[in-house]
Amino acid sequence: MKFGGSVLDESSKLDKIIKICTSFKNIDGVKNDIVCVVSALSGVTDKILSLTGLIMKGNRDAIKIFVDDMRIVHVNLIEETITDKALQLEAKEIVLGIIDEFQDILDGLALISEITPRSLDHILSFGERLSAPIVCYSLRNSNLKSEYYTGKDIGIVTDSNFGEARPLMNTTKLRVTAKILPLLQQGVIPVVTGFIGTDQHGHITTLGRSGSDYTATIIASCINANEVYLWSDVDGLLTADPSIVENARVLDEISFTEAAEMVLFGAKYIHPRALEPVMDSNIPLKIRNAFNLSHPGTTITHDIKKTSDNYIKSIIAIRNTALLDVGGGGMVGSPGTAAIIFDTLAKNKVNIMMISQGPSESSISMVLNKDDLGKAIASLELKLLGKLIKHLSVLEDVSIVTVVGLGMRGIKGIAGKIFTSVAKENVNVIMIAQGSSELNLAFVVKDEDCDRAVKSLHNEFGLDGMK
Ligand code: ASP
Ligand code: MG
Repeated sequence: MKFGGSVLDESSKLDKIIKICTSFKNIDGVKNDIVCVVSALSGVTDKILSLTGLIMKGNRDAIKIFVDDMRIVHVNLIEETITDKALQLEAKEIVLGIIDEFQDILDGLALISEITPRSLDHILSFGERLSAPIVCYSLRNSNLKSEYYTGKDIGIVTDSNFGEARPLMNTTKLRVTAKILPLLQQGVIPVVTGFIGTDQHGHITTLGRSGSDYTATIIASCINANEVYLWSDVDGLLTADPSIVENARVLDEISFTEAAEMVLFGAKYIHPRALEPVMDSNIPLKIRNAFNLSHPGTTITHDIKKTSDNYIKSIIAIRNTALLDVGGGGMVGSPGTAAIIFDTLAKNKVNIMMISQGPSESSISMVLNKDDLGKAIASLELKLLGKLIKHLSVLEDVSIVTVVGLGMRGIKGIAGKIFTSVAKENVNVIMIAQGSSELNLAFVVKDEDCDRAVKSLHNEFGLDGMK
């Protein structure tokens, strides 16, 4: 079970997750083992990230104010949640010790005004390192056996790509099982820091933002768990963004491949690689709301009951994008053109979200995040304009609309239905892409047309549950 920062940051919320653990330990006489993975309290990781500026300026006073604030927040949470005085005292001592270490490290970095990817990961780890003992002692406070561990203690070994480290699964599996299984046999609930691991040299690494999801699925796949729960404050994955479509609905069940198309842009963001470990080992992933237990949430799994009317699952709107079209006669019939264009963009760290090229090969259209547009234009102009490419045109203020659903594979007439529906709304389609997996069909419209397109498709495919 992974608990996100938004369900940990108040005593009343912590009480709820302790109740969840207690009830899952014993469901109708069936005993379950639980491993908890915790995020930092909400907002803490962002605050630590924002320290980099202060460190570079060597602003030790501002850093001290930050650390004092962290101390107050975490100690208050302990005092409000852990009622047993002895346990409360112990938890406080542990947390204060971690905060002292945090202060020393920040001071050291500020003294030399330097932050590297490695030291950034080191300081980012403190968010989770502070929340894990609090959850552990809260469990003990409710008479449950619990111990807390960092990702490193529990055996998550990664490469040294600080900030976006990837687990070395073979080593990790050996270590994690050796560590966790005996604990479970003793009835202990291990509370593990999400988001962090260690590289082979023992340096702390982080798995990327929202990495606690990933920690949970890595551990689940190592110990071959029956299921993974991601507890947060949303009911599940939705058929559309409720700010666009009023009657958007929570999906009960969805496949891993469909979910992978949705989690980056929907109301519930999940780490992009978090689905991988559980998908490979076929472990269902459940998205649940800790504050709305009567809601069953969304289950992500391989086995989807297929009914005739559920072939489309969700209509997604991706905002804040721009379209870039590059072309020129020189591109026709010359192998390697696309490689050169994409390589130029990649070297400048421009991420491309969508691509389309017609068979005449005279132009390539790409959609990217608007924030990357400046970099993209500058790098293409500098390197390729006037040579390989003759023109470069930009359309800002566009949105991508994606229709997701594994069931549309091989079904005729879906594209016809989609484009007829948006045409009725007088929406002009600027660019289209569909992968041959037929898992999704994406098209680009002017931003001002986006809501109308999403609404009409949501209705067309009966996603409001009325059909
Ligand atoms: N605390 C980290 C973040 O905010 C990891 C997580 O919450 O999953 O990105
Ligand atoms: Mg988070």
